[in-house]
Amino acid sequence: MAELDKQQREVDVPGDWTYASAPESRDIVHIADRYGYFVGGEWLEPAESYETIAPRDEEPLAAVGQATPEDVGRAVDAARAAYADGWSSLPGSERAKYLFRIARLLQERSREFAVLESLNGGKPIKESRDVDLPLAAAHFFYYAGWADKLEYAFPNRRPRPVGVAGQIIPWNFPMLMLAWKVAPALACGNTVVLKPAETTPLTALLFCDVLRQAELPAGVVNIVTGDGRTGAALVESEDVDKIAFTGSTEVGKEIQRRLAGTGKRLTLELGGKAANIVFDDAALDQAVEGIVNGIYFNQGHVCCAGSRLFVQESIYEPLVAKLERRLSTLRVGDPLDKNTDVGAINSAAQLEKIRELVAAGVEEGAEIYQPPCVLPEKGYWFVPTVFTNVAQSHRIAQEEIFGPVLSVLTFRTPEEAVEKANNTPYGLSAGVWTEKGSRILWMAQRLRAGVVWANTYNRFDPSSPFGGYKESGFGREGGRHGLEPYLEFDE
Ligand code: NDP
Repeated sequence: MAELDKQQREVDVPGDWTYASAPESRDIVHIADRYGYFVGGEWLEPAESYETIAPRDEEPLAAVGQATPEDVGRAVDAARAAYADGWSSLPGSERAKYLFRIARLLQERSREFAVLESLNGGKPIKESRDVDLPLAAAHFFYYAGWADKLEYAFPNRRPRPVGVAGQIIPWNFPMLMLAWKVAPALACGNTVVLKPAETTPLTALLFCDVLRQAELPAGVVNIVTGDGRTGAALVESEDVDKIAFTGSTEVGKEIQRRLAGTGKRLTLELGGKAANIVFDDAALDQAVEGIVNGIYFNQGHVCCAGSRLFVQESIYEPLVAKLERRLSTLRVGDPLDKNTDVGAINSAAQLEKIRELVAAGVEEGAEIYQPPCVLPEKGYWFVPTVFTNVAQSHRIAQEEIFGPVLSVLTFRTPEEAVEKANNTPYGLSAGVWTEKGSRILWMAQRLRAGVVWANTYNRFDPSSPFGGYKESGFGREGGRHGLEPYLEFDE
């Protein structure tokens, strides 16, 4: 032992432990100069285009089509034709084969997709590589398994497909949201028109190549790109039977108003302002990791982000000290660097929104902490931020910031924690950190949130339903529940 100590003392210990850069090569990705729409298995030439960029340095990546209502109409017609032409009546076991194929292809090409996702969206490569892509493939595998078992999933209810599904997805998890929407729709025998977000269309466009490889019949999945106007045209298209939307509460409400009285089915997965609640008996170091994962994962661009941290008063000081120390170790920078923890903010508009809310927090009297951090000169960046001394009435405790910004509040009793946690218009998710199983169950019964994580955070599995209460929307995605919005029942 003494010999070992001596040897260790003699080893040169570097004074500086900073990480060398470890960039993932982007050579694996081929990006075309311009893209059209994928309709009926073919590429349609757009009349109008816009430029999609890399948020890490504002590099232009490609020209992407801005679909008009007429383009959307063509996509819906193609989906209707494919629906009537055999997809809806194909045996479930045959549909399952296509879904399995898509899942396998996503696995095989996952590095290519992960690099493109990080390039176009700004998220760290270790997240797109280890979370987004594996989970997207897992969703296709999972729903492939259900495709020929719908009669067993809903016994005596004679399930049948709804028809053509219009699906509108956001920019925070482009491929994962695509999988959440497309996989259950196809498993149930529907056809799809999908609109990716304006800022992150490239992985959805690459996915069209996977559909080609999988030999999915033409028109079963159609992809139209564009901004909110394209989404609105899809919502208003008369021949769409169901709309599935993930995005802001504001746009969700607008869609709900437009669909009122039309008989179209609707599911909405909207915003959140989740409470992450730490009791004094929790394992603090583990809780700190969960808090960091809860709010800084994907730059806080997460609808279920644990953006309000409730700490029991007796552990407030040690917990905040540990949290601030941990924050100073987060590496902010190039999304394609494998060591990066916090990548680029998705767009200039989102960065502006984060800055505005952070300025409001300072103005309303909360105390701000930001670790020393050198940000790249180009691109969209925001330093991971913690606010303490936050009051329930502050905007940073009420509004969804959708950025790497945490608001810390305190409580004394479990009752008070529940009351404060539920004091929000949202109800998507929550976290509870405590050693006592009975307290976890007590809290979970009282928290008005679609998902409650215990001693962990941001855990996802295709078999587990996800969705909200109140202004976080309605309908569930994932699990057996995720099939229901895509089925009619002859009861
Ligand atoms: P939006 O709700 O505007 O975007 C979500 C999707 O809806 C995008 O594909 C968008 O297209 C499309 N869309 C926009 N307007 C319409 C419309 N009138 N009819 C149909 N579809 C439409 O979110 P933003 O990107 O504007 O983000 C704003 C805020 O929303 C964020 O700061 C965040 O707080 C919240 N948000 C929540 C998300 C969640 O997962 N719950 C995801 C994204 C944002 P386009 O991209 O072209 O605008």
